[in-house]
Amino acid sequence: MDIKSTLERLNKSKFRASFHLKKEDIEYIKKKGWNTIQAHCQDFISKRLAPAIINNDGKQTPTKGHPVFAAQHACGCCCRGCLSKWHKIKQGINISANEINEIVELLMAWIHIEFDNFKETDIRPVSKTNNKKNNKATPVQLKLF
Ligand SMILES: [Zn+2]
Repeated sequence: MDIKSTLERLNKSKFRASFHLKKEDIEYIKKKGWNTIQAHCQDFISKRLAPAIINNDGKQTPTKGHPVFAAQHACGCCCRGCLSKWHKIKQGINISANEINEIVELLMAWIHIEFDNFKETDIRPVSKTNNKKNNKATPVQLKLF
């Protein structure tokens, strides 16, 4: 997998590009350190995505609560359907150790970029204009495929 071109491809999807690390994710990374984040990433992919049969496939990845979750949605690695669509990884079979490593590499690259680009100023106080926008916003659970 070519990380750079894959990230560029994902960035062209409005839905995928809408995911970003939040302030609490940045603080979590600072607190836990990169090795731990990578270990979590490896663990999530191995347990929640790699098995051939996953009972809650399509719903196993929350949209927030861990930097890796945000990365999974941003990178089309949230469920086997998305892995198949974005990364041509076949459904219904175990994901190989090699593929797991590639997925982890991609997710960690995304998290590093987000971390480096994160600015406190990105968090704007909710203004009246923003409120109006938010009211019109589509539901959080958009189509995942
Ligand atoms: Zn998905």
